[in-house]
Amino acid sequence: MTNSPAPSLTPQARAYETMRTQGLRLTSQRKTITEVAFGNREHFSAESLLARSRRRNAKVSRATVYRTLSFLVRAGLLRQVDLGQSSPLYDPNFADHPRHGHFVCVDCRKIIEFHDHCLDVRESIVTKDHGFSPRRVNLQIEASCDALREKGTCPRSARANQSHPKK
Ligand SMILES: [Zn+2]
Ligand SMILES: [Zn+2]
Repeated sequence: MTNSPAPSLTPQARAYETMRTQGLRLTSQRKTITEVAFGNREHFSAESLLARSRRRNAKVSRATVYRTLSFLVRAGLLRQVDLGQSSPLYDPNFADHPRHGHFVCVDCRKIIEFHDHCLDVRESIVTKDHGFSPRRVNLQIEASCDALREKGTCPRSARANQSHPKK
């Protein structure tokens, strides 16, 4: 991780600041991609980011999306997570909540984030017991979403919302 700007800024503002300090010009493509990436708290795939960015700015190219994604990951503002989806997802919420975990529905793959301070304490005790010091946590719980638990099936819309690569 590089020396990141003040954490009081939004992740989007931190991204622009990091681009500036690394001499990367804030082009309209990079601006659109960054805005879309941090526009809400949804986890997204590279291809869905490309599709959403293109809706705002037709000039956005796939190559720039992938380059900007790896820049944002290196800057510590995005994290790539494997939540068992068809393609890896990018998580925009670690910048502000570095210690959150994920529930993932085993059927519709719906994702819910959680943060549990008791787990933080347990984890630091357990890692110390084993002579390790925690650097990065990736806690994922496979679970049944509300619908699956109550009705035995997940709504079709939840499946349709999954981020599959679009051609
Ligand atoms: Zn997350
Ligand atoms: Zn479900």
